[in-house]
Order: sequence, then structure tokens, then C-alpha cells
Amino acid sequence: MNKIIIAILAIIILGGGIYYWFFFGQQTKKIEEAITNLPTSIQSEIATDNLAVNNLPATNIKPDFQPPINRADERVTKKPFGVFITPQNSPIQPEKFSGFHTGADFEIFPEESNAEVEINAVCSGKLVLIKHVSGYGGVAVEQCELDNEPITVLYGHLKLASISLNVSDELQTGDKIGNLGMAESAETDGERKHFHLAFHRGEGIELKGYVQNQEELTQWIDPCLYICDN
Ligand SMILES: [Zn+2]
Repeated sequence: MNKIIIAILAIIILGGGIYYWFFFGQQTKKIEEAITNLPTSIQSEIATDNLAVNNLPATNIKPDFQPPINRADERVTKKPFGVFITPQNSPIQPEKFSGFHTGADFEIFPEESNAEVEINAVCSGKLVLIKHVSGYGGVAVEQCELDNEPITVLYGHLKLASISLNVSDELQTGDKIGNLGMAESAETDGERKHFHLAFHRGEGIELKGYVQNQEELTQWIDPCLYICDN
């Protein structure tokens, strides 16, 4: 009995496969015939269009922006941009912050806990701040342009001693900013070793890591839209 059912199923599947192969084969043939019958100028245009589509970058990284760290998209596992954090719901325990996260946090991989983790400039622009800031430890802020609008880029939880740049330096995309601060030290203001990256609209320096309402959050932009590659 079972054998009969299996045989029937096999026939149905095989038959369906042959039908689809035949049907789609005919469709492709028809399209190819239709293209061949078009004037040559249009034919070459279709070929160029196909080429253009095939050559599109596989990522959404902006041409003038670059990830500050390798495997950036794999690292945003705890606090993405805009997440509402409370001491109760936070993936980090204990948590001292609450509010909407103004940046994205990039975590380190286990093998990086005792290694230097280099952070590079995500865009070209002028460095406008290098200092110790409560909640971050070492911070650098750079002025850049995003879609023809000024923004400031905040690099948080850096080891200040590793920054060999000065305020007013002009950076190029990819230039080294510094290394991540050591976990639970003054370099991270007591936080785990990780990287906080934030994009704030306008030229003014804004250091808040969390804001208390969505309205305020609109002044910030998800950096992952520009530097994460998926
Ligand atoms: Zn953060």
C-alpha cells in the first residue's frame, strides 16, 4: 500500500517538474526571441542595463563612508540605534543608563578582549573634540557631511592615550582614530569594552548617549544605515 502511494507521489512530482521545465523553458525562449527581434540599439541598451545591475555593490555602504571596525554588522548584538533601554530591560547588567540609545554599540569578539581594537574614521572631516566624557571614557568627535548635510560623528569608549591626533586635524576616511578602551576602566568610564558610534545632525557637538523621547531621537541618525554592510 505504502509503495503505491510513494509511486503516485513520485509520478506527480516528476510530472510537475517536467511541466515547469517545459513551461519556463518556453517563456525564456519567447523573451529571447522578442529581444532578438528588437532594433540593435535597444538590444545593446538592455545588455548595458543588465551589466549595471550586476555591477551594483552588494552592500549599502556609502561611497564616502567606511566601517570604523571590521565585521561591523556582526557586532551590533546588544544595543542597536534607537533601542529603549531601562535598568530592567537592558541586555547589559547592571545597567546605569535609561532612554533611547542615540548610537549603535559594536561589541568585541572574545579574542579581542585583551587585544588592541583599532577604530578608524568613518568619513572625511575635521576632528573637533578629544576628551574624557562621563559615561564614555575617551571620546573623539568629527565633523562630516552626510547627504550634503553637516553631521557630527561621535566615537565613544576610546583609550585616549592611543589617540595621536589633535583637535582641528583633517581626517580622511579610514584614518586611525585610536584603540578601544580597556573594559571596566576609566578609558570606558567603567563600561564593558565596546565601541559606541553616533551620528548627530548639525555641526554642534552633542554628547548624549541616551535621550528621553523620540522627538529628540530624530536629531540622531542610525550609523548602521551607512557603515554596516548588510
Ligand atoms: Zn552605546
